[in-house]
Amino acid sequence: MTTDNSGDVRLSGISKTYGSFTAVHPLDLTVPQGSFFALLGASGCGKTTTLRMIAGLEEPTAGTVHLGDQDVTHLPPYKRPVNTVFQSYALFPHLDIFENVAFGLRRRGVKSVKKQVDEMLDLVQLGEQARKKPHQLSGGQQQRVAVARALINHPKVLLLDEPLGALDLKLRRQMQLELKRIQTEVGITFVHVTHDQEEAMTMADTVAVMNGGRVEQLGSPTDLYENPRTTFVANFLGSSNFIEAEVDSRSGEEIMLKAGGGKLSLPKARCSAPTTAGGKMLVGVRPEKISLTHADDAGEIPEGRNRITGKIANASFIGVSTQYVIDSAVCPEFAVYVQNVERDSRLVPGADVVLHWSPAHTFGLDAAQD
Ligand code: ATP
Repeated sequence: MTTDNSGDVRLSGISKTYGSFTAVHPLDLTVPQGSFFALLGASGCGKTTTLRMIAGLEEPTAGTVHLGDQDVTHLPPYKRPVNTVFQSYALFPHLDIFENVAFGLRRRGVKSVKKQVDEMLDLVQLGEQARKKPHQLSGGQQQRVAVARALINHPKVLLLDEPLGALDLKLRRQMQLELKRIQTEVGITFVHVTHDQEEAMTMADTVAVMNGGRVEQLGSPTDLYENPRTTFVANFLGSSNFIEAEVDSRSGEEIMLKAGGGKLSLPKARCSAPTTAGGKMLVGVRPEKISLTHADDAGEIPEGRNRITGKIANASFIGVSTQYVIDSAVCPEFAVYVQNVERDSRLVPGADVVLHWSPAHTFGLDAAQD
């Protein structure tokens, strides 16, 4: 049995320099056929340049681009089995929605287009709008027309460059789910560029976090959130507390660390820092993974939890949770989000507290990396 890999995207040692400036450092990346892949990063990190090299809109300085088994590095965009959706939908204003979607087929000389266009409009749930002009549709609907128009020629890969960037937040959230549904339905590879971490996390099976022209970490949204390997990734996807710690000892799968006067436990699998005894590392923990107990009740905290002590500096009720800022010797501005319904009236500024969390929610980062 042969498996269809014609929608795999494989970048090997691909890079892009402009004069003496390197926009993308040599990059190896494989996007499997049928997956939803996001290139995520701040403005200027090289994500659009990477996408444009896949599309053929930018010539790589070095390296190769394969789509399936085909080396497309030197093929012009129109000869590649890809299509791109941009932030500006660039619909033809004088053509109705049906004709906008039919455009690619007509240009290829396809005679009977109705069945295919109707199917595509149904896919993006715009069957009722076929005879309207683009200006009569909302931004989200126009973006769906752009997606239908890009999919009508059955590309192996759809590239999306900040396609939701022009939409307001509510519409953007709806469209994220909508794009995910469309991708699942058509089953082709989507490569999506965004600077919005929530967008990447909502839609993508795999996310590549880019920073300074390099992929800093690649993984599933859960993996990136639960197990960031650099402070950049930890901060880019959510917020995190960092404790300066020193390696004390190792035993099996557990690393023991000294932080302030106390000890912390870290699973080896969640550590991306060297673990030589005496070495420094940064220990990360997400604010919502931490429990807060008044110092008077410290004896009730179960064994085996990581714990540090501190004093509440600030407490703000933010609806779903209360956000505490804690002064602690190991981290001067420790943030804790507590979602407990039964609030403890003693947890007010000035109170002495113990912060505790599971070692399984602890990650270790190389203190020297940034
Ligand atoms: P944004 O979200 O702002 O589009 P990006 O992550 O997509 O950012 P790129 O557009 O890939 O970033 O650009 C990466 C870097 O390369 C930027 O510093 C940009 O200024 C630079 N760059 C892009 N195109 C050119 C060009 N034609 N000439 C010179 N520098 C360029």
